[in-house]
Amino acid sequence: PTSIFAIMSGLANKENALNLSQGFPDFKSDFHLIKLVNKAMLDGYNQYAPMPGVYGLREAISEKFKKLYQAKYNPETEITITAGGTQAIFTAITAAVKKEDEVIIFKPAYDCYEPTVELAGGKPIAVQLDPESFKINWEEVKSLINSKTRMMIINSPHNPSGKVLSKEDMQQLENILKNTNILLISDEVYEHIIFDNQSHESACLYPGLKERTFIIASFGKTFHNTGWKMGYCAAPAYLTTEFRKVHQFNVFSVHHPTQIALATYITNEQNYLNLGDFYQQKRDFFLNLMKESRFKFIPSNGTYFQLLNFSNITDENDFDFAKRLTIENKIATIPISVFNEQNLDTKVLRVCFAKTEETLKKAAEILCKI
Ligand code: GLN
Repeated sequence: PTSIFAIMSGLANKENALNLSQGFPDFKSDFHLIKLVNKAMLDGYNQYAPMPGVYGLREAISEKFKKLYQAKYNPETEITITAGGTQAIFTAITAAVKKEDEVIIFKPAYDCYEPTVELAGGKPIAVQLDPESFKINWEEVKSLINSKTRMMIINSPHNPSGKVLSKEDMQQLENILKNTNILLISDEVYEHIIFDNQSHESACLYPGLKERTFIIASFGKTFHNTGWKMGYCAAPAYLTTEFRKVHQFNVFSVHHPTQIALATYITNEQNYLNLGDFYQQKRDFFLNLMKESRFKFIPSNGTYFQLLNFSNITDENDFDFAKRLTIENKIATIPISVFNEQNLDTKVLRVCFAKTEETLKKAAEILCKI
């Protein structure tokens, strides 16, 4: 079906509703970064970038991996610049999954994983997580592994729950995958949006995972410009070779001037290391106002999403409720059943708090009246 993000943002625009559905900031990206893109255009970087991406940007990403995670990725053979996270995920799945291969995914799952696996001829094996704790039962995962299991997809910080995988989770996963040929996609697009002094457990910190993982990252989430559709994939050379075989015919290369600008911009870690604090303040500002509402919630641990349980308010299914809120109350949210196995309805909506305090105040005012 059509992606929920297209449906809800479309409805929000039509109804002139406050749009807390699709995840994107309603404030500006750094003017300095915009100027750098502008300069790159004026400097003449307006033809195709190299197929794997601008080398200087790949080098800067490689440095960032070294600094943050002490992980080595060769910019020549192990990093590819993509048109956002979704293209990187599509490309990794298409490069690795063949007909009848099984791919284990955890639900609620970001909406592009399953259709892409199916398009590649593979079979998604869905594990529905507990609707409150969203914890992975690794024993259950172990029991699903067989000779057809080709890949597993993890996502931390997790969209839509805002939960974060712990060191223990990653160690268990490392143990389970040891002595198998199973590949991993680690969707880490919210790596810098993590709260309450928790740390991001990147797959690259675990040698037994790093050697089999496509790490997916996004600049849009980090630098407040989701519309630029810029991201990357870091993976060992043998996987990057396969990744690029698809990438070259899927997009060939991505927006050149933006890559030139990002190559400079990401060398300053001040441009991303304060992001957790920045969004934690927004989460707390919003949830403080939401205390007055009839929604129930557990504060998000990461991402710029917050789940709101409405079981105290109505019996309606979440999709109908989200539509009604958009049309009648002029606020758009995401019903999370669309990410669940068989659209399990847990009476939960997802809201995006990547918004100005003014927008968050308006949103809370509406939600508190419901
Ligand atoms: N990642 C964004 C979200 O979860 C949506 C991206 C998209 O619209 N495909 O809201």
